[in-house]
Amino acid sequence: MVQIKPTKYVWMDGRFVMWKNAKLHVLTHALFYGSAVFEGIHSYETERGTSIFRLDEHLDRLLYSAKSFGMKIKFSKSQLKNAVKKLAKINKIVNAYIRPMAYYGYGDIGVYPKNAPTKIMIISVPWKKYFSKNLRVMVSKYIRHAEKSSVFGVKISGNYANSILAMHEARSKGYDEALMLDYKGYVSEGPAENLFFVKNSKLITPSSRSALHGITRDTILKLSKDMGINASEKQVTLNEVKNADELFYCGTMMELAPIVSLNGIKIGNGKIGKITSKIKNKFYDVVRGRDTKYKKWLTYVG
Ligand code: PMP
Repeated sequence: MVQIKPTKYVWMDGRFVMWKNAKLHVLTHALFYGSAVFEGIHSYETERGTSIFRLDEHLDRLLYSAKSFGMKIKFSKSQLKNAVKKLAKINKIVNAYIRPMAYYGYGDIGVYPKNAPTKIMIISVPWKKYFSKNLRVMVSKYIRHAEKSSVFGVKISGNYANSILAMHEARSKGYDEALMLDYKGYVSEGPAENLFFVKNSKLITPSSRSALHGITRDTILKLSKDMGINASEKQVTLNEVKNADELFYCGTMMELAPIVSLNGIKIGNGKIGKITSKIKNKFYDVVRGRDTKYKKWLTYVG
C-alpha cells in the first residue's frame, strides 16, 4: 500500500491551487451520491525524463465517462493534457499516480444534479509499488453491477461502493484482494483491476462485457500478442480460474500483481508463473521507455 504524501499543487478548474487550499464545499453533490467520474494515470521515470503512460487513452475514457454521466466539462482534451503535464512538472514528481476527477459540485441537494455545476480537478502524488507481495485472493459474495444497471466501460465513482464492500469482506477475512463475479455468474474482475489467467500456455481475460476494458488489460493483450503468446478474451467460469496454471491482476494503480492463491487454494505452484513473469518484465520495459516499439504510448513531460 502507498501512503499519500502531500504535494505542492492541485489543479482545480483551470488553476493551480496549493495542496492545503484544495478544498470543496460540504454540499458538493458528489459527496452524497458519488456523482463523479475519474481516472487513474501513472507516470514513470525514463531515460528521457518523466513520461506519462497512455495519457491519451485515459483522457478519452475520462471524457467518455463524463459524457455518459451528463457532465459538461469546460476544458478540451488538449487543455486537460497540458494541465496533467504541467502538474507533473511543477509538482516535480517522476513516479506519480495522477488522478483527474470531474464531479458535480454545490447546487442541488436532491439526486438529480440539475443546478450542480460540473467541476474538475487533477491531483498527482508520489507513487511506489502498490503491492510488494504476491496476492491471496477470495471470491466475493458481492457481484459486479449488471450491464444495464449502469453505463458500461466507464469509471463512475458511485459504482465503487460495490468494490469497497468486496474489499471490506476480503480484508476482514485476511485476504489481500477480492475477485468478483458478474450477474450471470461468470468471472468479472477485481474491485479496481482486471484479471488474467494462463492455462496450457494460453493467456485469457474475462470478456469486456463482464469487466472494465482496462487500459493495462489492453496493453497486456497487445504486448502478449506481439510476444507470440496466444492471448484472448472470453466468458470465463470460476472453475477455469480455480484450475489456472497462473493468475494475475493488472491495473494502472497496481500494475501487474501475481495471484498465488484463490480461497486459500494454491494456484499453479503457488509462485509467480513463467508467462506472468515474462509479461511483467515486458510491461516494465515498455512503461519505462526501454522498448521503443511502444513509444507512441508515452507522453514526455518535457
Ligand atoms: N477494473 C476496474 C473496476 C477499475 O477501476 C480499474 C482501474 N481503472 C481497472 C479494472 C483497471 O483499469 P486500468 O488498467 O485502465 O487502470
